[in-house]
Amino acid sequence: MLQIHQFPCLEDNYGFLAHDTESGATATIDTPDAAEILRQADLKGWRITDVWNTHWHPDHAGGNAEIKAKTGARVTGPAEVERIGTAPDRIVADGDVVRLGGYEARVVDVGGHTLGHIAYVLDTENVGFVGDALFAMGCGRLFEGTAEQMWASLSRIAALPDDATLYCAHEYTLSNARFALAIDPDNAALQARVDYVKALRAAGKPTVPMTLSVEKATNPFLRAPLLKAAIGMPNAQDWEAFGEVRLRKDNFK
Ligand code: ZN
Ligand code: FE
Repeated sequence: MLQIHQFPCLEDNYGFLAHDTESGATATIDTPDAAEILRQADLKGWRITDVWNTHWHPDHAGGNAEIKAKTGARVTGPAEVERIGTAPDRIVADGDVVRLGGYEARVVDVGGHTLGHIAYVLDTENVGFVGDALFAMGCGRLFEGTAEQMWASLSRIAALPDDATLYCAHEYTLSNARFALAIDPDNAALQARVDYVKALRAAGKPTVPMTLSVEKATNPFLRAPLLKAAIGMPNAQDWEAFGEVRLRKDNFK
């Protein structure tokens, strides 16, 4: 069985440990906070054998060195992770397969937030770790890539099964919801979801993970093609509409 343990860390990050009960292999998806990740693994009685990085940002790969030093874990990630100090033991790219005990994750290129950003998709479990590519009702800022690249990346995530469970790396949901309501005000599914996530947060509960079908119905970035008229770009390409929605979010107060 594959168990996934999720816990908050830093300001608004989530840590994730994926554990194969059979072999004992345990991966930390990214290393936002080494001390907290090691503590959570201890609480579970799990020994971290692998680090799977999604992208090079310090709140994702900054704890690699400490976790590797304390556990001997093997670091897998995109080449760009070198930027925070040491290269991954195994550099992976789109289409590669990464093993965790008896489980396999497929590497999917989701570049845009950073150029080399990847997601890890466990098809048999119908689960994806999407880092800072897609958030609940949001998506990552375009720090390095273009709107066209990011739209292609989000489309790869959207091509997963509708009932796929997506783990994103930040609890940004309430602030994303404000923008989503502003740009897509007549969306009843969105209104209902916002009420639901407000209740979750008020109860101190996470809004992560998400279900892909819910994102498709409520996430204004995935819905950009349907918002063309609303944003005054009826004849735009899908990626151009996405780029405009992203720009409006960047400037949203
Ligand atoms: Zn990031
Ligand atoms: Fe991040």
